[in-house]
Amino acid sequence: MSIAGRRAASVLAALLAVALPAGAQTADPRIGRLVDSVSEPRLGEILRRLESFGTRHLFSAPDTPGRGIGAARQWILEEMQRSSPRLQVGFDTYRIPKQGERITRDVELRNVMAVLPGRSPRRIYVSGHYDSVARLPGASPTAGASAFDWSAGDNPAPGVNDDGSGTALVIELARVFGQSGIDFDATLVFIAFAGEEEGLVGAKLHAQKAEAEKIPVEAVLNNDIVGGATGGNGVTDGASVRVFSEGPEDSPSRALARAVREAAALYVPSHTVRLIARHDRFGRGGDHTAFNQHGFAGVRFTESKENFARQHIVDDNFEGVSVPYLTRNARVNAAAMAVLGLAPPAPSVVDDKGRPRLGRQPSGYDAHLEWSASPHAARYRVYWREAWSPDWQHARAVGNATEAVLPNVSIDDFVFGVAALDADGHESVVSAYVNPPRPEVPIKTVP
Ligand SMILES: [Zn+2]
Repeated sequence: MSIAGRRAASVLAALLAVALPAGAQTADPRIGRLVDSVSEPRLGEILRRLESFGTRHLFSAPDTPGRGIGAARQWILEEMQRSSPRLQVGFDTYRIPKQGERITRDVELRNVMAVLPGRSPRRIYVSGHYDSVARLPGASPTAGASAFDWSAGDNPAPGVNDDGSGTALVIELARVFGQSGIDFDATLVFIAFAGEEEGLVGAKLHAQKAEAEKIPVEAVLNNDIVGGATGGNGVTDGASVRVFSEGPEDSPSRALARAVREAAALYVPSHTVRLIARHDRFGRGGDHTAFNQHGFAGVRFTESKENFARQHIVDDNFEGVSVPYLTRNARVNAAAMAVLGLAPPAPSVVDDKGRPRLGRQPSGYDAHLEWSASPHAARYRVYWREAWSPDWQHARAVGNATEAVLPNVSIDDFVFGVAALDADGHESVVSAYVNPPRPEVPIKTVP
């Protein structure tokens, strides 16, 4: 680079630092190439193929060539196996007896899973659900539960957007990461769940098993309905995606959501991540919820403008999605997964009793932050914000330390966090110091 070019770059870096006090990461060209390698034509081909199975309903044919859930899951498995010899691909299988309103008979459920082993066992997931469902022919979108026959598994249900789009994204990211040649610190998991439409069944069983086996699931990026750019009201938005995360405001899922937005801003700047501070859309749910309920951080990506008239219906077909839009959403996921997969794990900011290591020393009016060193961290960055603000407002690099003092910054008035960075500047999710709840102490009275 010329001297003038270098000067321009440093001026730009300074401007960015001013404009984005919390977004001080610099881009890694390897991640840039990985993000660029997400293929729009391949995403289109995968969607066409998923549509071709006619239905992927949990109770559709398990063994008919070319049609139904059996053919679909076998194709997904083989497609991921073909993508890269580095991927460990297999079914995650459960036998489920008839139960509830929607599981109308005994069934074998298979999630399809590809694992890219990292240097450490901690896991980052990207997910979608490959099963589909459709209302009975002629049933109104507002008919509710009566519009479905949960035993009619062979009715047409192409499910291209719900959730062929998330499934295609998962399959394509498995290829992109498997072929990237990058060695990640985290173990990366690409998973297509089944039984989502029957009540998050595949995701619940997987999350339950992960908790029981103490598998360190650090993050779940769940993609469900991420392919349509135009809403049912005719409004188009192909330049943003919504990311939903459960509260409270400094929950691990909210911290993950903020990290997704940071990565997107760095690597897919033309695409806006709109963070939504609720677990999912109003009155609705998705597979990330199953992970949240088992104590794992997980967020949901959904298109900016939904077309409710094209969900759970035979019209959820290829014509209803925008492959360029899906491609941008896939790139956002790729950027977040790559950054978090290369970064050290987020530092622990609590003591062995779970109490935040935040004090007022040395003056009694300072903010004194302590944390535990993260494996392979080269330095840390401390964040703070007013306690009535959702986004980090201040950031300070603190080198390779495990404590920092912010003189005269009140720990009552601000929220604090710390992130770990590796030598190349890949930054972890920010660990926040959460104000502990007050225990309720009952008062005795004399009768
Ligand atoms: Zn769905």
